[in-house]
Amino acid sequence: MRARRPPVPDFQPEIEAIYAEVARRALPRDCQLRTGCCHFRQTGRTPLLTRGEALYLAKGVRAAGRTQLRPHPDGACPLLGRDGRCTVYAHRPFGCRTHFCDAAGGMYPRKHVADLIHRLETLDEKLGGDGSRPLEGALASALKD
Ligand code: SF4
Repeated sequence: MRARRPPVPDFQPEIEAIYAEVARRALPRDCQLRTGCCHFRQTGRTPLLTRGEALYLAKGVRAAGRTQLRPHPDGACPLLGRDGRCTVYAHRPFGCRTHFCDAAGGMYPRKHVADLIHRLETLDEKLGGDGSRPLEGALASALKD
């Protein structure tokens, strides 16, 4: 008989509080939704997710009717829709809320959100995570829960 996994502690209120705080302290940026930052192969950068972010993102993926990831043909984020828009915008991870391309005004300075990163790390420990992981792997694990 397979051992049952322990239930995942409730992560949603803290994640939503962190994301609400990022929105509250938004810096002037001019994002034109070009989604250049979603094209990981081109930028050479992939968002890193803590476990709480990954579990919250998985909720968004399921809400969009998906249960698994399919690689994007251009090497972009697997959550970038064929219409060029994020398919899980309301559930996008912290990095997608604080990273802006140079044309839009650049990434938020770390000191502006350091306390929120610390809260994400604290939640990660509480959820039995092992630190930040690249989006695809973190999300694939979260989708199995
Ligand atoms: S989650 Fe959405 S906003 Fe973030 S990289 Fe993927 S498609 Fe872009």
